Amino acid sequence: MPQPVKLYYMGPMFRYERPQAGRYRQFWQIGVEAIGSDDPALDAESILLMINYFKSLGLKGLTLYINSMGCDKDRPKYMELLREYAEANRKRLCKDCQKRIDLNPLRLFDCKDESCQLVMKDAPKLLNYLEEDCRKHFNMVKRYLEMQKIEYIVKPELVRGLDYYTKTTFEVISPFLGAQNAIGGGGRYDKLVEEFGGSPTPGIGFAIGTERLAIAVEKEGAFDSIEDRMDVFIAVADQSTKPNAIDILYALREAGISADIDYMGRSLKAQLKYANRRGFKYTVFIGPEELEKKRVAVRNMETGEQIEINIDELIKVMRDIVKAA
Ligand SMILES: [Zn+2]
Ligand SMILES: [Zn+2]
Repeated sequence: MPQPVKLYYMGPMFRYERPQAGRYRQFWQIGVEAIGSDDPALDAESILLMINYFKSLGLKGLTLYINSMGCDKDRPKYMELLREYAEANRKRLCKDCQKRIDLNPLRLFDCKDESCQLVMKDAPKLLNYLEEDCRKHFNMVKRYLEMQKIEYIVKPELVRGLDYYTKTTFEVISPFLGAQNAIGGGGRYDKLVEEFGGSPTPGIGFAIGTERLAIAVEKEGAFDSIEDRMDVFIAVADQSTKPNAIDILYALREAGISADIDYMGRSLKAQLKYANRRGFKYTVFIGPEELEKKRVAVRNMETGEQIEINIDELIKVMRDIVKAA
């Protein structure tokens, strides 16, 4: 397969951790992966893709955090330093973190405990112990982001809880979800494929939590601008003309006009009442006489103004009216 392979997925996932607000047992995730290249331009592209997606949804005030986790050349020396530091501060760490010192000290950065966070603020940071390759890689990522005028904050504590990350990690925070809740994040995983027995294959990707994203979009008020468009209601004076009316209904929809018809066998008067209540902008009357004369009446529901047009021109006229509105 030609590389890099770029993939996306979305669907339901399950988490083992304790569910909380916006973090359910079953949740939806949108993910993007680029596999096969270790080019820092691809890191920047992934970050940009995520940011632009959020912006397209109307989200503002986002904060982008980035970090580098280095590679296995940087890790052993650093892990020793981190363990030593954590050991010296063992008493100030929570029970879970005390266990993590030996098991996986990097996870100490993820603890939400206030005391642990205080300790970890002064802990040695991997970012300061990178050898040249990883430092250069990180600098290039930053440069590409700057070229695209993407603001970021380097956050050396950002380890994202997953042991497989190498080099770049990133996370986006919405002001509506609090500092602990990223709406999306990801990173590079250059060793992951190898660890699972595959041939050495670098990769980078990110995931977006759909529920948390929805909360952010809703709180931002970005859903408010999506209006429930109701352009045309087709009123049928006589059930015998319904098949013709249905034909016109589909033609209107095909032309990009939001249209509907009565499905409850209402009288003409009741149909008009319904169209009013639902907020349709126009009503088109289709009756046997109209069909015979090939003329239909179009009523502006707001002004009550009514025009008569040739039935063959209906689609075009309605499209022009709706577009102009
Ligand atoms: Zn390295
Ligand atoms: Zn802790």
